[in-house]
Amino acid sequence: AKGNGRNGYCLFDQQMAEEAREQASLHQELHTALEEEQFELYFQPLIHLRTGMVCQLEALLRWNNPRLGLVAPDRFIPLAEKTGLIRAIGHWVRDAAMRQYQHIEALGCAVPIAVNLSSAELYDDHLAERIIEQQRSHDMPPQALVVEVTESLLIDNKQDTQAFLQQLQQAGICIAIDDFGTGYSSLSYLAAFPVQKLKIDRSFVQQLQQDARKQALVSTMIDLGHALDMEVTAEGIETEQEKQLLLAQGCDIIQGYLISHPLPAAAIEEYLLQIS
Ligand code: C2E
Ligand code: CA
Ligand code: CA
Ligand code: CA
Repeated sequence: AKGNGRNGYCLFDQQMAEEAREQASLHQELHTALEEEQFELYFQPLIHLRTGMVCQLEALLRWNNPRLGLVAPDRFIPLAEKTGLIRAIGHWVRDAAMRQYQHIEALGCAVPIAVNLSSAELYDDHLAERIIEQQRSHDMPPQALVVEVTESLLIDNKQDTQAFLQQLQQAGICIAIDDFGTGYSSLSYLAAFPVQKLKIDRSFVQQLQQDARKQALVSTMIDLGHALDMEVTAEGIETEQEKQLLLAQGCDIIQGYLISHPLPAAAIEEYLLQIS
């Protein structure tokens, strides 16, 4: 803003103040969002590349904010993490995902459901017990629940994370590494943690067909996952060419707008019934 003189600074201050006000209102509103039932889960299907069958759903959180309409998680999850609200929200998300599982099971089109876990939820020492308790009280088979964690969770706080993931694994719950390739860690954690699934981040898939170096990276990540007995998913598939490349590279599962956008509960039920 330097070259803009006094007015430039003024404008900048104003924007900062507005941003701070907006954050404060979001914070206020987030506090009542749970009790006012403003959260909603959307579900995105994952398909097996070779068979084209839907093999899983990912639950993605949305906030129906009365002032702003539908708010995407990137706008409020960081805030919920900072304020600790993420723990109550995470509990709600799992509850809603498990109830959705009961619905699709009753409809005869059950597939496992993945939920996202924030590393900030791990401040709860009893999180694993709570998740297992939730899964049992919903009569959900443990292997029908997938917990997605990011690489950063595996890197910070190694000891606690290891115990946490082992508890889930012993209960039969699946663990997936989300956004794989975006962390800056060594790969040693891959062998150290009980992880069954690996999700290659969308950034590696974008412009895949024009970029031979990206293709080499993706191919290496797929082979790495397979060498460790993991099932490999590629995220953010938007074109048929991307899908064909991934198929040729031996990727197991894809997720992305090419297959379907995330859908509200009623729409995903319709989707599952139509294809089954
Ligand atoms: P994520 O776990 O990596 O989820 C995938 C994101 O990519 C979703 O964004 C999804 O809508 C989007 N996506 C899927 N296919 C495509 C595609 O083909 N192209 C593009 N451009 N995008 C695609 P969404 O729903 O906005 O979620 C963003 C992030 O918010 C998630 O990234 C996850 O980290 C976080 N999140 C979502 N729900 C929850 C939740 O319940 N709890 C926690 N802790 N985090 C959540
Ligand atoms: Ca995810
Ligand atoms: Ca991801
Ligand atoms: Ca992400």
